[in-house]
Amino acid sequence: MDGCIFCKIVSNEITAKKIFEDENSIAFLDLYPAAKGHTLVIPKNHYATLLDIPEMELKEVSQAIQKVAAAVVKATNAEGFNLVQNNREAAGQVVHHIHFHIVPRHKDDGLKLAFGSKEAEPSELAHWETQIKKHI
Ligand code: 5GP
Ligand code: ZN
Repeated sequence: MDGCIFCKIVSNEITAKKIFEDENSIAFLDLYPAAKGHTLVIPKNHYATLLDIPEMELKEVSQAIQKVAAAVVKATNAEGFNLVQNNREAAGQVVHHIHFHIVPRHKDDGLKLAFGSKEAEPSELAHWETQIKKHI
């Protein structure tokens, strides 16, 4: 897609430290890493978000994610890793070509990727259980 920085990485118009490539996916190092070895995995075809990519291509990119994550963990001696995937601006997506962040983690590395710490009210959980199920 014109103007997409990740499409340009796929077509080698701009350089990146590519660490994996197969027929449908590539993986390369994040230029502004959250941790050493922070890697991005993307489908070669341009789709904006998780809601746009066809199921078959998502399956293929998932296989690449698993393979690349194992290599990133080994190379960085990580004790864990986060798989992060932002969709749309409100969720922090800056590059609008779907991508999966693999962020190696070590105990006490100080990285903050925090979720809620307050337990939800039972009525609130029941409400969202009903509402979301309606759309499945
Ligand atoms: P998002 O916030 O969209 O989920 O993440 C986009 C990621 O792409 C960011 O972590 C950012 O550091 C990375 N990034 C942005 N531009 C480039 C680039 O030109 N090359 C590489 N390798 N990574 C980039
Ligand atoms: Zn693109």
